[in-house]
Amino acid sequence: MSDNLQAVLYLIASVCFIMALRGLSSPKTARGGNAYGMIGMLLAVSATVFSADVNNYFLIVLGVAVGGAIGTVIAKKIEMTALPQLVAAFHSLVGLAAVCVATSALLSPAAFGIGTVAHIAEASLIEMSIGAAIGAITFTGSLVAFGKLQGLVSGTPLTFSGQHRLNAALGLSLIALTFFFVQSESYAIFALIILVSLLLGFLLILPIGGADMPVIVSMLNSYSGWAAAGIGFTLNNHLLIITGALVGASGAILSYIMCKGMNRSIFNVVLGGFGGGSSANAAADGVAQIDRSYKSGSADDAAYILENAESVIIVPGYGMAVAQAQHALREMTDALKEKGIKVRYAIHPVAGRMPGHMNVLLAEANIPYEDVLELDEINRDFSQTDVAFVIGANDVTNPIAKTDPKSPIYGMPILDVENAKTVLFVKRSMSPGYSGVDNELFYRDNTMMLFGDAKKMCEEIVRAF
Ligand code: NDP
Repeated sequence: MSDNLQAVLYLIASVCFIMALRGLSSPKTARGGNAYGMIGMLLAVSATVFSADVNNYFLIVLGVAVGGAIGTVIAKKIEMTALPQLVAAFHSLVGLAAVCVATSALLSPAAFGIGTVAHIAEASLIEMSIGAAIGAITFTGSLVAFGKLQGLVSGTPLTFSGQHRLNAALGLSLIALTFFFVQSESYAIFALIILVSLLLGFLLILPIGGADMPVIVSMLNSYSGWAAAGIGFTLNNHLLIITGALVGASGAILSYIMCKGMNRSIFNVVLGGFGGGSSANAAADGVAQIDRSYKSGSADDAAYILENAESVIIVPGYGMAVAQAQHALREMTDALKEKGIKVRYAIHPVAGRMPGHMNVLLAEANIPYEDVLELDEINRDFSQTDVAFVIGANDVTNPIAKTDPKSPIYGMPILDVENAKTVLFVKRSMSPGYSGVDNELFYRDNTMMLFGDAKKMCEEIVRAF
């Protein structure tokens, strides 16, 4: 394939990726966005694989076969609720790839067209060190995020005094090391850049805990984009630079939106310095309130309350995803609508375990988009609502976020379900949500706990109707 044709295909692929991002910004256009993304990737891969530079297909075919087989097995096996940790694991691979590409460029510069050993162009050395540093930070940061989301590493914020100063010192040492590396082209200094960056990745993500992981997942998404752009510079591949920049920028915008949703400062996220109060407090809160009394009811009780309501707001959360209750929930809400009851859904920006998690599940159950409202659009309506039906959600309704500065979720806006006349909580036990903080709403007079699996509970309520 000629260089000109490749450039044209790269251009078309870039436009496809931009259209993909545009499509993915709304559930209505998301399928179209996905299609654009796939077409763009097909063009990008074909234009690269069939370029004049490629003269040995054996390794490419082997890589695609092995990687494709592993990817297919993982995609088929993965539970929807485990997607965030899968994404974190994939981000770590992008980071590792950036480090590998930068290292091979340093070892065989002629193969990359950036000079010869000990005579590499200065700009390439700078690109190489930045790419390797971002890649290494992304690698270890994503591994820690994976561990936390998978429950292998404690979700508790791990903090120690002088943490910020240590991070700042490591950041400054990276700048100094890059300077010396560009002067000397020393392999040892390059290795040091990678080691310091690996350490920095760990230290940036370890202190993040409780409910703040969603911002970190999108931030690492952004880092992985910049790492890919770094690879693009080293390989002198314009499409990779554009794609990396698109991922980096859109990840950064998503992080900003999530930060706004969580009422967090984006600078604290980038510097790895947030995560709220100690979870010892959270645990203490839980213990202090464990003996308090609460009301629990059956599916029959819930059916009676729901049937006598004029308006109902459904608040889905992670538990709905675990139970795969969206279809049963749809049946339940259809039955309510048939009785002339107004039913809407309230979506918190960090409900579930990934951005848009609830929207995806509700769309899968063909719940009309116009019934699904964001926090800002619906929060005031709870005070004029008869029943808030909270299904597998917990942290996103916890009023402690408004009252206790020591709580790890302090400052996060919540859905004000307590303003509804009656609050029904569907969950299996009194245990807390992801942040580990007890929810004081469970003990309120207008709350009724409905203990059980979310899907089974919806099915039983429909039977009780
Ligand atoms: P929570 O994790 O706060 O609560 C979920 C609740 O679901 C639990 O209390 C659990 O209680 C219940 N549950 C679990 N399984 C079932 C089941 N089969 N049937 C019924 N209930 C069940 O979820 P929220 O959605 O309210 O909040 C999301 C949390 O996750 C926030 O803290 C957010 O910051 C964090 N997070 C979000 C990410 C995102 O991008 N959206 C990513 C990473 C973290 P029980 O065990 O008693 O059943």
